Amino acid sequence: MITTQNKQTLLLILIAFLFSFAFRLVWVFQFQDYEQFYFNDQFMINTNDGYYFAEGARDILAGESQENDLSPIDNAVSIATAFFATILPFSFESIIFYMPAFLASLIVVPMILIGKALKHIEVGFVAALFGAIAHSYYNRTMIGYYDTDMLNIVFPVFLLWSLIFALQTREEKYILFSGLEIVAYRWWYPQSYSLEFAFIALVIAYTLYLLYKKEDIRYELLLLGVMFFAMMGLDNLVRFGIVIALYLAIKQGLIQKFALPLFVLALLSFFATGGFAPIWGSLSSYVFTTATSATGSDLSLHFYNVVGTVREAGKIPFDVFANRISGHSVTFILAIGGYLWLAYRHKAMLLALPLLGLGFLAYAGGLRFTIYAVPVLAFGIAYLIYQLSSLTNTEFKKYFFMSLLSFAALLPNIFHIIEYKVPTVLMQQEVQALDQLKNISQREDYVAAWWDYGYPIRYYGDVKTLIDGGKHSGSDNFATSFLLTNPQTPAARMARLDVEYTETKFNLPSDAPAKYRTNLANMVLDYGFSDANDFLAALSLEELKLPEKTRDVYLYLPNRMMGIYPTITYFSNLDLMSGTQGAQPFYHFTTLFEEDQGYIYLGYYNRQDIRLNKATGNIEIDKGRVAIGVKDFTLTYYDANENLQHTTNEIKFDGKLHLVYMKSYNQFLVVDESVYNSTYFRLFVLEDYDTNLFEPAILTPHTKIYKLKI
Ligand code: MN
Repeated sequence: MITTQNKQTLLLILIAFLFSFAFRLVWVFQFQDYEQFYFNDQFMINTNDGYYFAEGARDILAGESQENDLSPIDNAVSIATAFFATILPFSFESIIFYMPAFLASLIVVPMILIGKALKHIEVGFVAALFGAIAHSYYNRTMIGYYDTDMLNIVFPVFLLWSLIFALQTREEKYILFSGLEIVAYRWWYPQSYSLEFAFIALVIAYTLYLLYKKEDIRYELLLLGVMFFAMMGLDNLVRFGIVIALYLAIKQGLIQKFALPLFVLALLSFFATGGFAPIWGSLSSYVFTTATSATGSDLSLHFYNVVGTVREAGKIPFDVFANRISGHSVTFILAIGGYLWLAYRHKAMLLALPLLGLGFLAYAGGLRFTIYAVPVLAFGIAYLIYQLSSLTNTEFKKYFFMSLLSFAALLPNIFHIIEYKVPTVLMQQEVQALDQLKNISQREDYVAAWWDYGYPIRYYGDVKTLIDGGKHSGSDNFATSFLLTNPQTPAARMARLDVEYTETKFNLPSDAPAKYRTNLANMVLDYGFSDANDFLAALSLEELKLPEKTRDVYLYLPNRMMGIYPTITYFSNLDLMSGTQGAQPFYHFTTLFEEDQGYIYLGYYNRQDIRLNKATGNIEIDKGRVAIGVKDFTLTYYDANENLQHTTNEIKFDGKLHLVYMKSYNQFLVVDESVYNSTYFRLFVLEDYDTNLFEPAILTPHTKIYKLKI
């Protein structure tokens, strides 16, 4: 009898898992003929951060990484990936591409088990289908979305399941499961801390309720004790060992009578090992986030504040919020009703409140939090569908209506999956350039590139980088922004300086004041300046002794940077002493344009139409209300030998803007003098490099990589 029930559970889990996995293959079928998305005969991943974990896994498998190369060889995602790559007969590229689809689909397991705990396995099954493919859960766990997200929701839903069973059955094994889930979740995602803390707070509240009712709370105290030990501020393995040891002792009946002392000891250990510190830290970082200046003990500089440029920090409209959780505003509202009903009938579901609460934080800002609410409201909608279908008078009608309503609720999410066609992070030719770079560079060499490309460059090029997806504060970005947007002499010097200062700083003892200054502050002081702006101006002068060259430095200049050049300028176009932002350079880039007899229409500049008046040689903005003279027109194109050529014709002697048509790319640029002289423009658009400073390493239309000669 038990086995039939277990077989039924297993079968439902299998069906739901395949359902979840199959929908994640939609992307594969949509892009299977898209050569640009492949590298090494496999699809590339579609999340930038994934390359961070991939680098760590690659180095674990290779058994080596370089000192201070920022490769995450201790990271759980990297370790798990290396493990899968070792035991499975698939290529590394296949593993990182399919891993999210596989692991994220495991969410159906705890969801169906929770349904079982509620004695409504059908509810668990429908909720599992819904939770697995709901809008935001899909977005962050789709195939190729190789990131911690693939298990970030699976772990807490497992924890929810074991806590529900623990409080319902008071069986010892659920104490073990809960403890292990906390240890595993923290290993996988250290930021999971607050969520675990919220779960523990609910269990405490429930225990106090039992105490008030004068019921036996020894089991709950043991559970809380193990949970607190599992959350202590100690190493993962230590906490793992303690959880196992405690479970064995509980199973032997050794510590039941010491439940209260054990709980007190756990609580004390928790506080003594700094267990509470992360909560305090994250609370204060949420509340007080206004760091704009990096203060050294002796030189205080003002860098660009990045917080404002992070899109996720903004407040989101209600329908976006609702769609991301349930696929549709109507479903979302019904699901909330369903959850309230479910929680009223099955109090255990109140334990899901931390997940729901974290999901709702998204509404205050932080789109990425919506996924936490997905499984909880999936139960809400599933319960509502179940109750409505149960109003019918036959089993057949009941299941028929359940299927129909479930399908209706799933439909907006299915449409979303079909329409959600995200590209891979890089295109094939771009990766080929990096793969080529790997062969000509050393692992200790640096590639200076905008932070967006840091992780992929390190993964494919096997080199070091200055900034990346995790290291891109205003002060980190300064040097790279400076070298991309300034003329070649100061740019080349800044590239050498920032690389050598970065490496030197790694090796400074922890009591050296320079260790806590920004690279730039150290440069300014070392060169004997007190004003950073004076130092930057000095970079253009003849006499400047650079630090000794310890390695090669490459400049990575991709065409895809065209669209973000203005953003890049922000980070170095400011007065470092006062923080005052400089006037933005004129920069317009477009691939959408039209021509008639009088004009070339160049799209929109700052939301106003921009065009070239062919008769007057002026760039006109806002229907001609603003007119700026064009100094010259440059045409670039690849000749028959695939060499870049360019010709320039003067238009107006006193013109202020340069008009550039990159014929082979079919794109236009309108830029002022400062952009025209920038290293990115000179080296990428014109390949017009100073032979004393740079030499070309890899020149392709998509990517140009130069080697620094100084
Ligand atoms: Mn390395």
